[in-house]
Amino acid sequence: MTPSSFTEKLIRERRARLRAERLYEQVQRDLRIMNAHLREHAITLSEQVIAQREELDIVRGHAETLQGMNTQVSQDLQVAHSEADLATLRLREAVETLADGFAVFDKDQKLVLANRAYLSVFRDFPEVQPGIRYLRVLEICAYEGVVALGETTCDEWVAAMMSRLQAHDITPMDLHFSNGVSVRLMDRRVANGDYVSLVHNITETLRYQAQLIEAQKRAEAAVEAKSAFLANMSHEIRTPMNGVVGMAELLAETSLDAEQRSYAETISSSGQALLAIINDILDFSKMDAGRLELIPQPFDLEKTIHDVLNLLATSARAQRIELILDYDLFLPTHLVADPGRVRQVLTNLVGNAIKFTESGYVLVRAVGVGTTAEGQVVTMTVEDTGIGIPPEYRDDIFAEFSQVEQKATRRYEGTGLGLAITRRIVTQMGGKLWVESELGVGSCFGFTLELPFATDQGQAEALSLPPEYKSVLLVSDHLISRDIIARRLKTCAAKVTTASNAPISLRLAAQARPNVVLIDQDLSDAKISDLLAELQTCCAGAKLVLLCSSLIEAQAARASGTAFDILPKPFLWRDFLSLLAPEAANTKLAITAPALCSDPDTLTLTRKLRVLYAEDNKTNRLVFSKMLSALEIDLHMAENGRIAVEMFKKTVPDIVFMDVSMPEMDGRTATREIRAMPEGAHVPIVALTAHALKEEIDRILDAGMNAMLTKPLKKSELWTALRDHAPPGFLPSLDR
Ligand code: ADP
Repeated sequence: MTPSSFTEKLIRERRARLRAERLYEQVQRDLRIMNAHLREHAITLSEQVIAQREELDIVRGHAETLQGMNTQVSQDLQVAHSEADLATLRLREAVETLADGFAVFDKDQKLVLANRAYLSVFRDFPEVQPGIRYLRVLEICAYEGVVALGETTCDEWVAAMMSRLQAHDITPMDLHFSNGVSVRLMDRRVANGDYVSLVHNITETLRYQAQLIEAQKRAEAAVEAKSAFLANMSHEIRTPMNGVVGMAELLAETSLDAEQRSYAETISSSGQALLAIINDILDFSKMDAGRLELIPQPFDLEKTIHDVLNLLATSARAQRIELILDYDLFLPTHLVADPGRVRQVLTNLVGNAIKFTESGYVLVRAVGVGTTAEGQVVTMTVEDTGIGIPPEYRDDIFAEFSQVEQKATRRYEGTGLGLAITRRIVTQMGGKLWVESELGVGSCFGFTLELPFATDQGQAEALSLPPEYKSVLLVSDHLISRDIIARRLKTCAAKVTTASNAPISLRLAAQARPNVVLIDQDLSDAKISDLLAELQTCCAGAKLVLLCSSLIEAQAARASGTAFDILPKPFLWRDFLSLLAPEAANTKLAITAPALCSDPDTLTLTRKLRVLYAEDNKTNRLVFSKMLSALEIDLHMAENGRIAVEMFKKTVPDIVFMDVSMPEMDGRTATREIRAMPEGAHVPIVALTAHALKEEIDRILDAGMNAMLTKPLKKSELWTALRDHAPPGFLPSLDR
């Protein structure tokens, strides 16, 4: 080998090696790049793997959660299913146990479900089960005689029942099944178009209702019988009481010594007390039966209050209680109400006030509190200085049979009915009874009524005293009473001097030179007869007027020779005025008398007044004749209606007093027969009855009687009836 070839060979080898080295480097480089790529890729891949694993973990977690939830849901579903099953079971059982029938019909009127009670009526009709149409159910009811249809035909009934369902609100209806069961059908439409039918068994309710109606009828009949019994009993009791009270009244008018007089007065007052109790019970039973009727008529309110106070004056005086009336100066006296009931209310309140007061006074006030289109608004109060009523009893006392004191410790008599009756009357008159009271200080009962004005306003009272009586000395130790009288005197333009005891009165009498002296009989520090005598000397020519609470004592004082007039306490203003101006009253009489006598029958008073009295009870006849014995009359008596009619024909009386209940022919029939006679058409006939029921009064007036007097008869009432109804002129002493 040549060197050159060797060199060449070396060079070639070197070149080859270099090439190989370069290739190796290139490969190395490529490998590195690839490695780097691979590494990056591996990193990316591993990141992806990590991310995917994380996602997988999350998904796995979700899956696990979902699986848990799924398990829960399926468990819940199971529970819900079993609860729903239980609820359905319960509902079904509940519906089944209902005593009432229950059914649901769908909107196509097909039965969806019905309980046993509903289906029980259709036991013989197996086709009545879910799926049956409502129309078919009705047809079975009608045509198979399940329901008692009465007069209605089957077709009519089915049609009516079907059309009933068309209404928006289906009205309940009662059905009576042929087996005696009655039901009330109540149907309701539901939102989805179904309707629910509830069939309520009302057999027992109807039976109960029928029993109630029957019981009510029996109760009404019993009330009716009770009222009739009470009316009869009151008649039976009043008839002998007529004898007792009337005879005692007559007896007291005869000359008696003090002891005998007190016996006669006790008989009379006990009789009156007994009558008051009977009246209370009768009234209460009338009110209980809702039969209290008011008979409004014109009346004089001031006079009515005055009459009540007069009636109770004796018991007030016995307890040394001052009775005072304060009648509002500007309050009209002629109003319209039921005077008997107004009197009854006041009698109860004033009677209680006296009963529950040991000392002090009872003051009745009547105050006008304005007018309305209906009339006068009047407030009346009865104030006392008595024992008072504990606050806790204040509402109870108006209830029936309620009394503050316990029976065992009772000091006061009474039935406990008075206030209950009073409250009912006041309520019926449109008012409200109230009470204010302080224990140990006193009570005040009051009420306000709206009373129409009477068309006849009565005679206006003089506003001033006659000129010769302008100076008045008023002697009374009762502050309130003195104040009220003095106030009234002053409004009559009088010069008033007041004295609170006898010595002062004598001193003032000498100074003031009065022409009228009003002396309170109950002055505590003076002997009245002595004071009257001294005043007569001291004010010569003056008119002495004794304001008296005891007529007997007043008359005894007269025996000592002193001249004085008497006015019952509290006095009516008009009585005082007519005492001062008697001529005015006489003139009135003189003017009226001839006018009355223009009646041709009475022009020549050649005969006495002819009175016919029909009464079967002997004692009553005796009482009647004695009560009229002071009058110049021609009295005829008949023992029953038939005899009265015969006597009427013979005697043609001027006035007839007719008992209502008599044997053979009662008073009403006798009146009708008398009215049928030409001479009996206009004769005044006054009924005498113990029956105080409104129907009785109506029957009496319907029979043609003009007026009515209740038994027991009172002399004053009998005389008033004669004055009001007998032809005038016969008894001038009675003519107004
Ligand atoms: P009674 O027949 O007992 O008087 P009332 O119904 O008239 O029946 O009265 C019921 C009760 O109210 C009385 O028993 C009494 O306790 C109480 N009472 C009524 N009025 C008064 C009064 N003016 N003062 C105190 N208590 C009274």
